[in-house]
Amino acid sequence: MLPGGGIGPELMAYVKEVFRFGGVPVDFETIDIDPSTEGNEELEYAITSIRRNGVALKGNIETKSLTAGIQSRNVAIRSELDLFVSALHCKSYPGIKSMYQDIDIMLIRQNTEGEYAMLEHESVAGVVESMKVVTTDNAERVARYGFEYAKNNGRKKVTTIHKANIMKLSDGLFLETSKKVAKDYPDIEHNDMIIDNCCMQLVSNPHQFDVMIMTNLYGAIVSNVICGLVGGAGLISGRNYGDHFAVFEPGTRNTGTAIAGKNIANPIAMLNASVDLLEHLGFDYHATNIKHAIELTINEDHIHTPDLGGTNSSTEVVQNILKRLEKLTEGHNWM
Ligand code: ADP
Ligand code: MG
Repeated sequence: MLPGGGIGPELMAYVKEVFRFGGVPVDFETIDIDPSTEGNEELEYAITSIRRNGVALKGNIETKSLTAGIQSRNVAIRSELDLFVSALHCKSYPGIKSMYQDIDIMLIRQNTEGEYAMLEHESVAGVVESMKVVTTDNAERVARYGFEYAKNNGRKKVTTIHKANIMKLSDGLFLETSKKVAKDYPDIEHNDMIIDNCCMQLVSNPHQFDVMIMTNLYGAIVSNVICGLVGGAGLISGRNYGDHFAVFEPGTRNTGTAIAGKNIANPIAMLNASVDLLEHLGFDYHATNIKHAIELTINEDHIHTPDLGGTNSSTEVVQNILKRLEKLTEGHNWM
């Protein structure tokens, strides 16, 4: 467990409360990373711990310094562990009033390179260069993840998002690679769309999208657009996968510094991330019950924090989830 900064620690406390209440057989090793230090000792320890445990639940780790050479620790964790893909299942909750209903988009994002290669330098004073790195290997792994997801989950269409009309080599490679991979999946429709048009299409007709695959920075932006369409930063979880490790976190990866300690942060995105973790570990019984308790709280009891237009506190949401969980698991013998 990497609580991170801002609202991270309070959200983690809710996860622990729900797990304890639900008798979830998971122990956490908690590692706090101090945002003000520039040393990487805690970061190395966190990475070693994830290698040992195989999985992690994380909040956003702040990087205060803007000095060149000081990497974002969030990016460092994803690169070090080769978590090459990020997956956000952006699905509407019927109980939440939002711009659109019935959105169900799987957003698949390259998670370790592209514009996040962290290769920036000032070549001469006043001139900064930043490298965007696209490799066939990673473009292929991301595309394959997207098409495999589509195949295994009854999805009909995959859309590759790019700017290959301008970035002909880098985005061109990403697009061409996904077209090649698409040939192995003749039953799934494949199309592509330029990132700018994609943003317009998302806000005017989001229902045309099914599975989307894209490079790193476009994924950061588009995931925020879609989360905004279904109800904001406090709902959707994000999964980071590599061949060996998996890290679960809130989908829009916010620190939430301004709302920390006020009992108003929406606990749902982190709780959904904890459900993803349980599913990954094979604790399906616990995952299903917690997920169901979350849905009942949002859709039927309408217990909503202010970000959703509600008046409930974070702890009221959590208490209601516990109440629902109790009813759902009545009569079940944990031991
Ligand atoms: P970043 O860490 O990327 O700077 P912020 O912390 O500024 O992001 O979050 C962006 C916006 O989303 C803020 O208005 C913040 O209050 C809101 N937000 C993020 N997470 C939550 C949450 N769990 N509940 C409610 N609002 C949230
Ligand atoms: Mg901020």
